[in-house]
Amino acid sequence: MVEKGRVRGRFAPSPSGRMHLGNVTAALLSWLSARSQQGSWVLRIEDLDPQRSRRAYAEQILDDLRWLGLDWDETPLWQSERTAIYEEKLSELREKQLIYPCYCSRADLHSASAPHGTDGELLYSGRCRHLSEQEKYALEKNRRPAMRIRVDDRVIALKDGLQGQGVSRLDQTCGDFIVRRSDGVFAYQLAVVIDDGLTGITEVVRGMDLLSSTPRQIYLYHCLGLPVPEFYHIPLLINEHGQRLSKRDQALDLGELRQRWSAPELIGKLAWMTGLRDDFEPITARELIGEFAWSKVRREPIVVTADFSEIESKG
Ligand code: GLU
Repeated sequence: MVEKGRVRGRFAPSPSGRMHLGNVTAALLSWLSARSQQGSWVLRIEDLDPQRSRRAYAEQILDDLRWLGLDWDETPLWQSERTAIYEEKLSELREKQLIYPCYCSRADLHSASAPHGTDGELLYSGRCRHLSEQEKYALEKNRRPAMRIRVDDRVIALKDGLQGQGVSRLDQTCGDFIVRRSDGVFAYQLAVVIDDGLTGITEVVRGMDLLSSTPRQIYLYHCLGLPVPEFYHIPLLINEHGQRLSKRDQALDLGELRQRWSAPELIGKLAWMTGLRDDFEPITARELIGEFAWSKVRREPIVVTADFSEIESKG
């Protein structure tokens, strides 16, 4: 049972590789925020995509979190075990006539004439929105459809605890978006909303790279009648070339980091890097709880050099 009125944070890693510094930062800040408010913190393994997810990576992530001293309160949820729930919610959207099958191929979507939204992302033209039953029947023979949700012209307000307020219109940024892929895999956007909504998550802390997904998710919360959590999108970590740190920056994955530093040394560096502390003295995650405040956390991208020796904020 989910207790009312208590902060409930989560970390939702995709087990497609070893955690890198960006994931660790998101996990640490999410944990600190929940713990500093005497809240609970839970884990969800986002292993929906069978092509990319590996059980061994998930086990490694749990081990890395234990090593960091970030403890969780309940048995982790695995998205791969929750497809019946996603199915049920998809039916709810179907009953509300909000979804429709889309037979467009990748080539159709990326064709030269494909329109772009206000933020430069591909805007779905709505090509399959008004297909007749006959047309669907004919198309179905060649192709298993993806499912899209209809969006409208409503203004979606987003209030982010770190990045401030913003508004967005889905009909101008992405158009009708995919909730289930043509290979049957449920889309991240849908699964994340169902899971956070049904498990009573009150706080979502994650990287800035997911900020552009948030209006779509808020829309889905509304469509499904689920409570919208608070959001904190933390600054991206970038390398000296201004590129986002990724799993390719091998030297900054936890395998490498664990060989070089103890957990308190690493957490001390992260505390300094994110703006929580003025020095990078070693400190455990638990000791840091009392010092945590969102008002101290940086909002701008943070440059991290490979050896972690020089960390600066890119203003
Ligand atoms: N599974 C996503 C990732 O690892 C994070 C999803 C989220 O926090 O909403 O990038």
